[in-house]
Amino acid sequence: MRVAVLAVQGAFLEHENMLKKLGVSVMELRRKQDLEQSFDGLILPGGESTVQGKLLRELGMYQELKERIHAGLPVLATCAGLILLAEELSNDEKVHFGTLPVTVRRNAYGRQLGSFYTEEEFKGIGKIPMTLIRAPYIEKVSEETEVLAVVKEKIVGVRYCNQIGVSFHPELNAHPGIHKMFLEMLA
Ligand code: GLN
Repeated sequence: MRVAVLAVQGAFLEHENMLKKLGVSVMELRRKQDLEQSFDGLILPGGESTVQGKLLRELGMYQELKERIHAGLPVLATCAGLILLAEELSNDEKVHFGTLPVTVRRNAYGRQLGSFYTEEEFKGIGKIPMTLIRAPYIEKVSEETEVLAVVKEKIVGVRYCNQIGVSFHPELNAHPGIHKMFLEMLA
């Protein structure tokens, strides 16, 4: 089993380290040619979604990844990654992959609560650490989208078919729960 991590910007190394700790083979997606190698799942890391979206298009990876996600490639998207997947952004016109039927608000916690740490229930895992950094939250989900976690009355974790999206950064804490859940989806 091999997992590809989008490695054009943001916190991709931390995801790679987590996957390696879990004994999974990892590869980086940095340019179009990397898509020729085979992989079973994809991680879209946190960072800056505007920059990531722009680079994905400039590097010629956007269309193929979009089609593969649409066709069922398992994806774990964290923070900016969640923004890349969202079908609709309530405070931004620029939609990226648009494969996850949810509405996401960028930088949603405002200035004061811009970044914070909490521990909350995540469905199917239990209480886990959550680090939110200028994080988005999910304002609306389609009927088929399962809500997996809520923080301060806002949705921060969902699953829809092959796509898991979370507002926080599971790769920045030692708890492997989210990555394990993703790997179970690949198995
Ligand atoms: N604020 C960033 C964005 O809008 C996301 C922040 C993050 O990934 N930690 O893309």
